[in-house]
Amino acid sequence: MKTTNKIKDVKNIIKKIKNSNQTIGFVPTMGYFHDGHLELMRRAKRETDFVVVSIYVNPIQFGKGEDFDKYPRNLQRDIKLAKKVGVDLVFAPDDSEMYPKSEINGDNFSTYVEVKGNLTKTLEGKFRPGHFRGVATVVAKLFNIVEPDIAYFGQKDYQQLLVIKKMVQDLNYNIKIIDVPTCREKDGLAMSSRNKYLSQEERKKATCIYKALMHANDLIEKGERNAYNIIKEMKRIIQSDTSKIDYISIVCADTLKNLKVLKGKILVAVAVWIGKTRLIDNIVKEV
Ligand code: AMP
Repeated sequence: MKTTNKIKDVKNIIKKIKNSNQTIGFVPTMGYFHDGHLELMRRAKRETDFVVVSIYVNPIQFGKGEDFDKYPRNLQRDIKLAKKVGVDLVFAPDDSEMYPKSEINGDNFSTYVEVKGNLTKTLEGKFRPGHFRGVATVVAKLFNIVEPDIAYFGQKDYQQLLVIKKMVQDLNYNIKIIDVPTCREKDGLAMSSRNKYLSQEERKKATCIYKALMHANDLIEKGERNAYNIIKEMKRIIQSDTSKIDYISIVCADTLKNLKVLKGKILVAVAVWIGKTRLIDNIVKEV
């Protein structure tokens, strides 16, 4: 497995891979790997010839006061894990490589990709303004650097997945986007690098998120179609264990528009604070 922090190296390697007609699978990450990340890599390994993983904590997708500085990082451990699952190339750039001062006019980086409309206004977009602009911009850059045939994203960040799919469609990227189901701990908590922030007591409380999602699932299975009733029940389960609920929403899984009555492919999405840690999770269902 090769590792580099230079765009030029990646481009040289990719050129050779393309010349030998091999397909390229790509998994963009912010590192501090858990099994969810590794599952994306395993899937890429099964479906493509050459797997590239990027590790980059992208500063422009974090808002002021968010956890950019304390976001967990452990590059050496990540490299070992990537190697173990058979990744071919790890690209771990620093900020000066990704957002250098322009050689054109000396300005800082000044081109951004913004997916407009409801997809980025709602849910995470409401609570993290500018987040998806940062995500779309860095992923657009990474796609141009890596030129993958297939890129893999987790359903855990369902809204991000839709934003990337929209960007790929709108900007005519020739890249297939694959969504990978959410990997969970034994008690249902969605794996996340941010789970590291949780104290032992908070870790126990965090299971309320999955419990609430599973309760919503049961209610829907039993025939409940009224979003308000389901959300009320979920709030009851979550409220006692959280310091704040950012949202519990039931929306159309394609447009992310709010639903009063459940119909078609739906997304039940949750963002809550367990102490000082903000966690998100969701389920997708066809009703
Ligand atoms: P991150 O490093 O958190 O930016 O995540 C990198 C990729 O891994 C994204 O596509 C995430 O959606 C995906 N991912 C994160 N957590 C999970 C999980 N528990 N299961 C599946 N995919 C995940």
